[in-house]
Amino acid sequence: MSTADEESGPAPRLFPALPDPLPVEVFDSHCHLDLVELPVEEQLASARAAGIRRIVTIGVDLPSSRLCAETAAEFDDVYAGVAIHPNDTTGLTDDALTEIADLAARPEVVAVGETGLDYYRDWAPKDDQHRSFRAHIDIAKRTGKALVIHDREAHDDVLRILAEEGAPDRVVFHCFSGDAEMARVCADRGYVMSFAGNVTFKNAEPLREALRVAPLDLILVETDAPFLTPVPHRGKPNVSYLIPHTVRFMAEVKDVPVPDLCEAITTTGHRIFGF
Ligand SMILES: [Zn+2]
Ligand SMILES: [Zn+2]
Repeated sequence: MSTADEESGPAPRLFPALPDPLPVEVFDSHCHLDLVELPVEEQLASARAAGIRRIVTIGVDLPSSRLCAETAAEFDDVYAGVAIHPNDTTGLTDDALTEIADLAARPEVVAVGETGLDYYRDWAPKDDQHRSFRAHIDIAKRTGKALVIHDREAHDDVLRILAEEGAPDRVVFHCFSGDAEMARVCADRGYVMSFAGNVTFKNAEPLREALRVAPLDLILVETDAPFLTPVPHRGKPNVSYLIPHTVRFMAEVKDVPVPDLCEAITTTGHRIFGF
């Protein structure tokens, strides 16, 4: 979950048409398969038809983290992230963190996330969010999995806590929301920036400036489905098969050929998630 497109109100349950498939395969680095109102088989089939084979499905609490791990075990090409979302950290227990650590150790789980800090919604007290984020950083390091960060209006504290705890080797800022300066800091530290459909939004020029300065080998693409549907389908529910709209738009912003961007994303995916 992330910068949901709240201002447009409830989305009509009408799924957009399949876009032209990408010339080179990419993957969806962050999706909530369990929140999209389509069967998983259908989401995978439509994604494949658009040139997206692998999907990382992301947990936000214990039930969804369990489900994501189960879905990843059941379906080839589905991998899981497990975590307690920062918005859900009020009164977080050690038992919950222990279960996340157990789930994170499973082979089909490739990431600890989404964790991080959300000062926009501010649903959980900052102390609880910080404690949870620090614990998830520790779990990622102990299990050797990538850390997938949700950072909403909390850049400084996210960067500070990562530095204080010692960042894991592989860090991904999901739905990257920083400007060019933040992108430079992330690039210096080797953090990967995953761009979502909101990079296509009219008012997202600072995000496009960040994308321009982000090194090609530190860029990923994601849907965050069912949220953040890219233009020209903004307002409708998002599904992994809509990634081509975002990738083509990103290639134009970066001024690189679409196949080159796809190949760079796939190579980074291999390095970060091991597939
Ligand atoms: Zn998400
Ligand atoms: Zn998020």
